[in-house]
Amino acid sequence: MTSDFPLHPETLAIHGDDGLEADTDVAPSIHPSSTFRARSAAEFAEIASGERPSRFYTRYGNPTVARAERVIAGLEGKAAALLLASGMGAIATTVLANVSAGDHIVAQTSHYMGTTRLLADLLPRFGVTVSQVDQTDPAAFEAALRPETRLVMIETPSNPTLAITDLAAVAAIARAHGVTTIADNTFASPINQRPGEHGIDLVVHSATKYLGGHSDLVAGVVCGEAAAVQRIWEHAIVLGASSNAFDAWLLLRGLRTLALRVTRQSDSALLLARMLEAHPAVAKVHYPGLERHPQHALARRQMKAFGGVLSIELAGGYAAAQSLVARLELVANAVSLGGVESLAVHAASVWEGSLSIAQIEAAGVSPSLVRIAVGLEHPEDLARDFVQALAG
Ligand SMILES: *Cc1c(COP(=O)(O)O)cnc(C)c1O
Repeated sequence: MTSDFPLHPETLAIHGDDGLEADTDVAPSIHPSSTFRARSAAEFAEIASGERPSRFYTRYGNPTVARAERVIAGLEGKAAALLLASGMGAIATTVLANVSAGDHIVAQTSHYMGTTRLLADLLPRFGVTVSQVDQTDPAAFEAALRPETRLVMIETPSNPTLAITDLAAVAAIARAHGVTTIADNTFASPINQRPGEHGIDLVVHSATKYLGGHSDLVAGVVCGEAAAVQRIWEHAIVLGASSNAFDAWLLLRGLRTLALRVTRQSDSALLLARMLEAHPAVAKVHYPGLERHPQHALARRQMKAFGGVLSIELAGGYAAAQSLVARLELVANAVSLGGVESLAVHAASVWEGSLSIAQIEAAGVSPSLVRIAVGLEHPEDLARDFVQALAG
């Protein structure tokens, strides 16, 4: 980027990959080649031993993947990004690159299910211990720190209760103790929140969600300073969590409308949250944009808008939640979020297979909780669908 002034995210999403290739195409080209030919033995030796080559072998890097990385790094305001096979690929690789046996991690009681399983089940098998704390209390992070703590892992807003972690407070505590911070920014997207501005070291995403935005790719990304991302890349090429040209190309296409989509989804989610808050069948609405959300003031401080995900608890309990997701017509009963189409999922029925009841309860998830991922349909049509489904 040659501009002297910082570009806005709307512009970076469209032009953040300019200058990476000397082609004259307006839209990004796609490079599906798994391997790349060197022009000479000297060039081969240089590429093979270089840092993150984008034209050597696609597990190491790829030109289309590099373009998506450049755009996302710009959006997060970080020097570098590494695109990986999935959000969990990004999270697991980032964590594994930063800990060894004997180390300790401080994380939240409430995380995306795959992250909880990584932290609570997988890492302890390799001698890494994890303390999970209440994310709404920065002092709890500090109290859990030990001399061997290497990482603080946060996620805000968190899945599926939309609890908020104070990014600046937790980043300052970790930094004072020389501990690296990772924030999962999937729910907010860089349009609504940039954890790096609050002092967070590494920002991870499931790019499958808002960044891609069309429910047609699976990818993950980690953003950070160049040396930190290089270290994660050295692990990624061994763990094999690499992305590919097709997913990266779809991601580049989706990213171009990220700002428009997220802004509209955030507006529609707030409208829906207000409507559902007033509905007699709904016992509770979790959405940080609502004034009555216990952390609304904090959310306002660190977020531009509050995202397209909300969750509700139904007065009628587990059975009412199952009935709601079955009766919705426009809104599909499917996991995931961040796509153009609205989705709803009964959290307890997804989580039961993988987490213990104690883990589900520790994450603050009620058996009647339904998570709603708002898409780009007209909000009045969505409201009407919920009214008819809740009448059942
Ligand atoms: C979906 C999701 C993940 C995992 O991403 P995948 O692309 O499915 O591997 C991680 N964190 C959050 C908050 C998510 O929503």
